Amino acid sequence: MARRKMIYEGKAKILYEGPEPGTLVQYFKDDATAFNAEKRDVIEGKGVLNNRLSEFFMTGLANIGIPTHFIRRLNMREQLIRAVEIVPLEVIVRNYAAGTMAKRLGMEEGTQLPRPVVEFSYKNDDLGDPLVPEEYIIAFGWANQQDLDDIIALALRVNDFMSGVMMGVGIKLIDFKIEIGRVYDGDFMRLIIADEISPDSCRLWDIETGQKLDKDVFRRDLGSLTDAYTEVARRLGVLPKTSATGAKPTLIN
Ligand code: 5GP
Repeated sequence: MARRKMIYEGKAKILYEGPEPGTLVQYFKDDATAFNAEKRDVIEGKGVLNNRLSEFFMTGLANIGIPTHFIRRLNMREQLIRAVEIVPLEVIVRNYAAGTMAKRLGMEEGTQLPRPVVEFSYKNDDLGDPLVPEEYIIAFGWANQQDLDDIIALALRVNDFMSGVMMGVGIKLIDFKIEIGRVYDGDFMRLIIADEISPDSCRLWDIETGQKLDKDVFRRDLGSLTDAYTEVARRLGVLPKTSATGAKPTLIN
């Protein structure tokens, strides 16, 4: 059997050539990394959960008219996506102070912000994805002013959708990171949501208890990452609910 062509291997995902031009297959690995890959482990089942959760969020976004790269899930670990030209930025939206913002500004984690804020990091592992002002983005040609206005509008719509969905299952969306891709229809360029949306790239806290249900569980050694992600998936109905016997839900295809 012919081996398919690998296009790119990242820390948590692999991209393969897709079955048709303009498509790729996105494979979710079980690898977990933090602090620019200084901390790493293999968390069994993480890739399966993130494949499902990213499908769930991307499909929801498409349903309210927000364009994404997601086409369809292929199997437990893979999804078919549109090939895009990635904008070299991490777009971060914050509703509450946490992580690098809390550290940088000396704020207590969990402090509600006066309004959602959008910030940009330059996607570059060697530099540790440094925070960059809009001036840099425009000066270095990573995006123009119109792109940035569109990206901010998209990011805030994603935030409203994600906050609402998570609130509905008793989870506070503290912050998240998305990536944006360019697709071309003839001369016309559109910006769409790319990469993944999963607990790897969000901070999710239980509303009642404040329990962390995201990658901080791994970053800060707070317990089982699989249990945390399974809980998010279970609440969203992405996995079957725990059976009456109390048995754990199984990860079905
Ligand atoms: P912070 O800047 O506080 O570290 O991260 C803000 C939010 O963006 C968090 O939800 C975090 O998970 C996400 N984020 C920031 N950088 C990365 C990254 O390189 N990879 C992933 N998966 N998420 C990131």
